[in-house]
Amino acid sequence: MINSYAQQLGSARSCIRELFAYGQTLAKEQGAEAVCDFSLGNPATPPPNGVQEALAHLIATEDPMAVHGYTTAEGALATREAIAASLKQKYGFEVTAKDLFLTAGAAPALTAVFAALTIDEDTEFVAIAPYFPEYKVFSHVWGANLTVVPAKEPDFQIDMAALEGCIGPHTQGVIVNSPNNPSGVVYTKETLEALGEVLTRLSKTYGHPIYLISDEPYRELVYDGKEVPFLPSIYPNTVVCYSYSKSLSLPGDRIGYVLVSPFAWEAEALRFGVAGAARSIGHVCAPATYQKLVAMCEGEMPNLAFYDHNRKMLYEGLTALGYECVYPDGAFYLFVKAPGGDAAAFSRKAKELGLLVVPCGDFGCPGYIRVAYCVATEVIERGMPLFEQLVK
Ligand code: PLP
Repeated sequence: MINSYAQQLGSARSCIRELFAYGQTLAKEQGAEAVCDFSLGNPATPPPNGVQEALAHLIATEDPMAVHGYTTAEGALATREAIAASLKQKYGFEVTAKDLFLTAGAAPALTAVFAALTIDEDTEFVAIAPYFPEYKVFSHVWGANLTVVPAKEPDFQIDMAALEGCIGPHTQGVIVNSPNNPSGVVYTKETLEALGEVLTRLSKTYGHPIYLISDEPYRELVYDGKEVPFLPSIYPNTVVCYSYSKSLSLPGDRIGYVLVSPFAWEAEALRFGVAGAARSIGHVCAPATYQKLVAMCEGEMPNLAFYDHNRKMLYEGLTALGYECVYPDGAFYLFVKAPGGDAAAFSRKAKELGLLVVPCGDFGCPGYIRVAYCVATEVIERGMPLFEQLVK
C-alpha cells in the first residue's frame, strides 16, 4: 500500500508546473518562437556578476573538502554571522547566528516553520488571498488547516476586519508574503503595523502567541523606491522565511533561511522546533557551496533595471489594450483581471495561441490571471499581439 495523500500530491502537478511543462514540449516540437511562456517565476536574468565571480573564485581557490562537505544542520557559522551582520546593517535589527537556520530555499523553510507550529489536529494557519498555493501543502504536513481570507480590493492590502474574523483559539500563525506573488503588491508600513496590533491583541485574548510567518523570496524586488518594512521590527513573534532564489537568480541552487526573531515569546523552543521539523523532513544541511557563496554575496542586488523595464512594458502595454491590472510595486508578476471573468477559460484560450498565463483560482482569486515578467523582454514583445488578439 502507498500513502494515498502522498500519491494524490505527487500525481497532481500544480497548474503552474503543468503550463511550464506544456511550454517546454511545445517549444521542442514547434520551436521556441511558438511559445510565450509567462507561467513560471524563473528569472531570465543571470545571477549578478559579483555572484558569478564569487562562485568561480570559490570553486577555483577554496579547499574542495570545505566547499562540498557537510555543514552543521543549522548551517555554517560564518554564513549565519554574515547574514546577521547584513540584517543589522540594513534594518538596524540585532540578530545573532543562533537565530538563523539555513535551508534549501523558502519552500523547506516554510514547511519546517508550519510543522514546528503545528501542535495538534485543530491547529490553524491563516493566509491572505491571493496566496502562494503551496502553503496548503506546506501547512498540511503535520495535519494543520489553512484558512484563507481575501485581501481588500482594489489595492489588495490586508482586510484587517476580515482577518480578525478568521483568527480563533487554534490559530498558530498568519502567513504574509510581501512583495506578493501573484499580485505584486507591497504591504505598507501602516498595514503591517495594524496587523501587528491585531496579532498582539488576539495573542492576549487567546493566551498564546499568534506568529507572523513572513514569506520573503521577493524582499529585494521592489520598484520606484518603495519600502519593504522589516517585520521583526514591527511584531516580535515573527518568523522570516527568506530565499535567494529570486534576489540572486539562484532558484535551482536552493538556498535560503529561517530567521526566528530573538524577541519571539518562545524563541528558543521555536528554534529547536524548526530544527527538529526540518530534520524530520530529511534536512541534513543546506547546499554547502551556496552557503559559502551567500556569505560572500550579502548586499548583492538583483537586476532591478531589467525587471523594471519589463514591468513597465507589460503593465503599460496591457493597460493600453484595455486589461485591468493591479499596479505592481514589487516581485515580478502582473495580476490581471481575466477578461470575461473566468481566468481558467482565458488561460485555456491563451494556451491555444502558445501564450502561457496562470489562472489564479489556486491562489484564491479565480477572476485573475498571473503574468510573470521575469522573462526575456522579447517574450513580452512577441506576447503583446497575442494579448491583443485575446482581448478582442
Ligand atoms: N513563496 C513564494 C511566494 C514563492 O513565489 C516561491 C517561489 O516561487 C516560494 C515561496 C518558494 O521559493 P524557493 O524557490 O526559495 O523555495
